[in-house]
Amino acid sequence: MPISSELLEILACPMCKGDVEYRDGESFLLCEKCNIRYYAEKCSLEKCRRCGGELRKVTGEVLLCRECDRWYPIIDDIPHMLPDELREDLC
Ligand SMILES: [Zn+2]
Ligand SMILES: [Zn+2]
Repeated sequence: MPISSELLEILACPMCKGDVEYRDGESFLLCEKCNIRYYAEKCSLEKCRRCGGELRKVTGEVLLCRECDRWYPIIDDIPHMLPDELREDLC
């Protein structure tokens, strides 16, 4: 279920306050143990950076910042918009 255009209108990048763009069908690398999903377009990892475990390819939704090129996953219809210092999924 894509997020509503009303919500998209309100959401802004937590780092630069820029507008974000919604995309579906994007590839992620998921570590089920750590519950971390890396965005395949930005991170070409073989193993999880935290635990060294296997990563599974999954498809999901993402919000992309038009200003600073950061990305934020949407997990179970909830946009996860954390600043860089609270994230473990960056490469
Ligand atoms: Zn892991
Ligand atoms: Zn931004």
